[in-house]
Amino acid sequence: MEDRIQGLHHITAIAGDAQRNYDFYTKVLGLRLVKKTVNFDDPGTYHFYYGDEQGAPGTILTFFPWRNVRRGENGAGMATGIGYAIPAGSLGFWTKRFEEFNVSFGKPEKRFDEVLVNFTDPDGLQLQLIMPENPDRREGWKTADIPANAAIQGFHNVTLTVNNVKPTAAILTDIFGYRLTKQEGNIFRYVTDAVKEAAIVDIVETAEGKRGHVAGGTNHHVAFRVKDEAVLMQFRDKVVQKGYQITPKIDRNYFFSLYFREPGGVLFEIATDNPGFAIDEPLNELGQHLKLPGQYESQRMEIEQVLPALVQ
Ligand code: ZN
Repeated sequence: MEDRIQGLHHITAIAGDAQRNYDFYTKVLGLRLVKKTVNFDDPGTYHFYYGDEQGAPGTILTFFPWRNVRRGENGAGMATGIGYAIPAGSLGFWTKRFEEFNVSFGKPEKRFDEVLVNFTDPDGLQLQLIMPENPDRREGWKTADIPANAAIQGFHNVTLTVNNVKPTAAILTDIFGYRLTKQEGNIFRYVTDAVKEAAIVDIVETAEGKRGHVAGGTNHHVAFRVKDEAVLMQFRDKVVQKGYQITPKIDRNYFFSLYFREPGGVLFEIATDNPGFAIDEPLNELGQHLKLPGQYESQRMEIEQVLPALVQ
């Protein structure tokens, strides 16, 4: 079982203003900032990781906040929805909270017998709060305003939009071990039984749909989870055998990663559980310090001057 893809690891999106992003995710949604670091490919930009107490795989939403970034556009070839599980009975708490904080949100609706509410973050990123059919067992991060019986528990699903479901689905079923469980119109639900939570990928097929444009307020990539580097490299072989280009193993400090573009256009990553976010600061201080990878530590002063100030 452990050599399988274990659902979602993290999802990464692009934001505009760093402070606004921080305030929305930690204060309005009540997630924990588990790591404040920089984009390893562009150290003048933050990389924020939000999740549960530990930043457990399957709860981690990450952002590159680029000030003055232009707005992207959801469309085919990208992840177009991020679904968070919430406890049964907590939807009223959240819609009231969204009103209070002027969050743009829709009326409750149903997808595959699950009640969900669509909402957007300040950059226009599309998210959903979902009451799962089988209640989620994870404990969310609690804040002064958000009690345990309402706290967001982590990802329930991710939605991908593609022009043709088949090639993308083949990656999920033939390589990642997901299977098609439900279909409603042009929405296909793929689920892995390797894990109980963060186990769902929904694919929206839109044959004529315009391609999306990745920029502010859109998703950059979706990362799937494996136990360790040995399993990571097994999946690298499987992807190569199917004829796709994939990167070598990349050290992301908190996990090891591979990236490849699935045939529908979405950038996929496979990421390990090890070593996790407590590798460079204690659990009770996660997210409080600017953490830099070794190669940038000697430039800390310059980097701190370039990064926008963040009030936490
Ligand atoms: Zn990633």
